[in-house]
Amino acid sequence: MTILDGKKVSNEIQEEIALEVQKMKNNGEKVPHLAAIIVGNDGASLTYVNSKVRACKRVGFESSEYRMSSNTSELKLLAKIEELNKNDDIDGFIVQLPLPPQINTQKVLLAVDADKDVDGFHPTNFGKMSLDMSSFIPATPFGILELLERYDIPTKGKHTVVIGRSYIVGRPMSILMGRQGFPGNSTVTLTHEFTKNITQITSQADIIIIAVGIPHFLKAEMVKDDAVIIDVGITRVPDDSKPRGYRISGDVDFENVSKKASYITPVPGGVGPMTIAMLLKNTLLAKETHRAKQLQKD
Ligand code: NAP
Repeated sequence: MTILDGKKVSNEIQEEIALEVQKMKNNGEKVPHLAAIIVGNDGASLTYVNSKVRACKRVGFESSEYRMSSNTSELKLLAKIEELNKNDDIDGFIVQLPLPPQINTQKVLLAVDADKDVDGFHPTNFGKMSLDMSSFIPATPFGILELLERYDIPTKGKHTVVIGRSYIVGRPMSILMGRQGFPGNSTVTLTHEFTKNITQITSQADIIIIAVGIPHFLKAEMVKDDAVIIDVGITRVPDDSKPRGYRISGDVDFENVSKKASYITPVPGGVGPMTIAMLLKNTLLAKETHRAKQLQKD
């Protein structure tokens, strides 16, 4: 059994990006600039945005953070998005989810300029991804592809079962694993809450990618020998023995499933760190697109 070390691979990718940034600096070019909008004070969201900003600093990107209060109106947020769309200094930006209930998330995601949509959530990018065209791929699925590629895990002709159909993980993952190329060319089954006899399906899978947010959902009896297991789940479970009062749990019963798996991601240290690295990679791509557009204008 091999542990897919997302932390190590993420650090390698960040070192590669830092080298690219250094080259830009040496050539007198502007470095990529990532901005983040955060609405409200959700603890997990603040932690995620902080770690994104720290990662930008590590690789030499510029970064900006726009904090808005939890009672911000939809109109005010849309105006901020328009401001960032027009700001030539910013190459890409994210609107941290979830948003407060008075704001329509779909409306917000549609308002982001698709060329600056480094989260890959805009329908233009989602459509391009589905059509095998070059686009921003959502960071978590992109990170999973990168892990499979860097560990050279065969996917062609394999049966991949994706558990969970969220727009940010499960749904795009199911499309990407079925696309032509590597990683891809899998036969994909997408499962969700209404899937019947899920154990019958997962126990036929060569590769399982799970994103449901239910700690230890995937048990050893649901997995066949030598399966590849990718655990996306991150749930804070109350734990008084920890200084923060909680521990992070994945969707996989790691202790028992790892005894059967050929490859498995740990939580933490698997998919999570890859997500950050791929957001940076998307920002690098956004900067190139932005630069090409500016050269065309000049
Ligand atoms: P989500 O929006 O929380 O939705 C959960 C999905 O799981 C839904 O599609 C739901 O099905 C499905 N589901 C629930 N119960 C199920 C069951 N009994 N059998 C099969 N499917 C079931 O999904 P998400 O945003 O992708 O988040 C999932 C987990 O991944 C969370 O723990 C989240 O924190 C984590 N996450 C981690 C990263 C990372 O960087 N590592 C990134 C994103 C998310 P229905 O559609 O039928 O309701």
